Amino acid sequence: MTTLPQSGPPEYNVTGQSYDDRRHFRHDGPLIDVHAHVTMTHPSDPPGFPGGSGRAGSLAQAETMLEVARAFGITRTYTMCPPQDIAPLRERFGPALGFNGPIAKAEDEPDDAAYRLLDRFLEQGVDLIKFWGPPRGCDEGLYVDAPWRRQVVQRARAAGVRVFMVHVSDPDAWFATAYADPIHYGKKKEHYFGLHFLLNEFPDVAWIAAHMGSDPEDPDHLAELLERYPHLHLDTSATKWQVREVSRRRDALRALVCRYPTRVLFGVDLATRPHLVREHYVSRYWCQRTLWESVWEGPSPVADGDYAPTLGEPPLPHLRGLGLPPEVLRQVYHANARRLFPHQSPAGEGEPGLSL
Ligand SMILES: [Zn+2]
Repeated sequence: MTTLPQSGPPEYNVTGQSYDDRRHFRHDGPLIDVHAHVTMTHPSDPPGFPGGSGRAGSLAQAETMLEVARAFGITRTYTMCPPQDIAPLRERFGPALGFNGPIAKAEDEPDDAAYRLLDRFLEQGVDLIKFWGPPRGCDEGLYVDAPWRRQVVQRARAAGVRVFMVHVSDPDAWFATAYADPIHYGKKKEHYFGLHFLLNEFPDVAWIAAHMGSDPEDPDHLAELLERYPHLHLDTSATKWQVREVSRRRDALRALVCRYPTRVLFGVDLATRPHLVREHYVSRYWCQRTLWESVWEGPSPVADGDYAPTLGEPPLPHLRGLGLPPEVLRQVYHANARRLFPHQSPAGEGEPGLSL
């Protein structure tokens, strides 16, 4: 997390941007957020994976986040939360939430630990399963194609799950810093071997590679992946990362999304935390919508410690809106999610969403 001096501007608004100014928004239909971490929260929550306090936790942060989401047009959010958080969240928010079960285990735990976790998620009726496996995860044995994870795909598929999300690799900026040791971490592209393996082994289910496939820095690589694997999709989540790198390659990313409009899904990657303020949530939704649907240009209002300006670049990362065409936006913002999750009621007018 970025630590800012107390006297400095808050991380969610370093430019004094008015988030009430939404005149540049072009889309007035519903949106579905396929990548979020809405959880129960508790003051003692650790800084790692969010949530887990179950019925002992508070709904207040989830209330705030989803109220803000609704104000930005989001009618459903697919959340990753520990299994004990699902029941209280579902009771409160009903069809405004779908659930994504992240499957992980400690390196020294038996494979059964992962299968028991999967069973808890399946009992709760999750819509998709997530494998987190960036380089820092691989350090702890969390390879996306680990044998126990491939077994999880088989078991989940047999139970009716048809969508799987993976996080492989990480920003280029981190391969110049945290992952700079080439002996230990290798090259960024080598971290896609596990994804290729899964896509080849399981062609009959849908895959979502989170965070623009973790490679908004290389639109040609993303095009290769989408061309080769018709069952692969990308989500737009991780706002600072996408604002920074998609804006740098606005025209190439715009061409990519327009070429594969059925393969990109809207996601934000917001996480509820016990002490977050409302404007934190507002900032990410505002930036995501501004990036994809508008032609707004200006310094990004969100602090980004990973931004290192190259020669000629401004001191703050610039957000450069793609201004995607309305029909492409309709697919990215909700139609693709509705197709991947057909058993859920369609998002749109009259949907029984949040009652606020
Ligand atoms: Zn996430």
